[in-house]
Amino acid sequence: MDDAKEKLIASIRNVPDFPIQGIQFKDVTTLFKEADCLRILSDILYEMYKDKGITKVVGIESRGFIMGPILATRLGAGFVPVRKPGKLPAATIEESYTKEYGTDTVQMHADAISPDDVVLLHDDLLATGGTMQAACRLVKKLSPKQIMVNFIVELYNLNGRAMFDPAIEVESVLRMEE
Ligand code: AMP
Repeated sequence: MDDAKEKLIASIRNVPDFPIQGIQFKDVTTLFKEADCLRILSDILYEMYKDKGITKVVGIESRGFIMGPILATRLGAGFVPVRKPGKLPAATIEESYTKEYGTDTVQMHADAISPDDVVLLHDDLLATGGTMQAACRLVKKLSPKQIMVNFIVELYNLNGRAMFDPAIEVESVLRMEE
């Protein structure tokens, strides 16, 4: 791996047993707070997606709301939030997904994406993939031309990427063990 990615990995803080016992929480705020790391990450993301014709970046609440708009600005694309229920003010569409305990729901404005859009969904981290899969189903309901998915960190040993439709290009900047 190149020096830039090594530097980014070293900047991510591992917090054991947060939010519950047994989880190794990857805290990306320690990457974002370093000016050098924030710029390097922004540059890497821009290089990955600059030639893909992306017109909308969709960020997942809440840590997808940090690099999502930064990347959208650099790509000359718009930004669309996917949020937890009850937060968006206008008409929404929604999708539910199963978590280890119970279910969760994500919502997006019903008019946020149009059929001529090329969409990149972004979140900070891929674990099991349940959240992003639900977000992909949401976006698909609005029939864009193409859907791509990006994470800053992929916990590769959980093999979350195996859950995605093979038609969806899934990329991550950094691969780490859980
Ligand atoms: P999943 O749906 O299992 O892929 O979980 C992804 C969501 O939960 C992302 O929005 C992450 O921010 C968060 N998440 C899950 N596991 C971790 C972890 N070990 N460290 C940091 N964030 C996590």
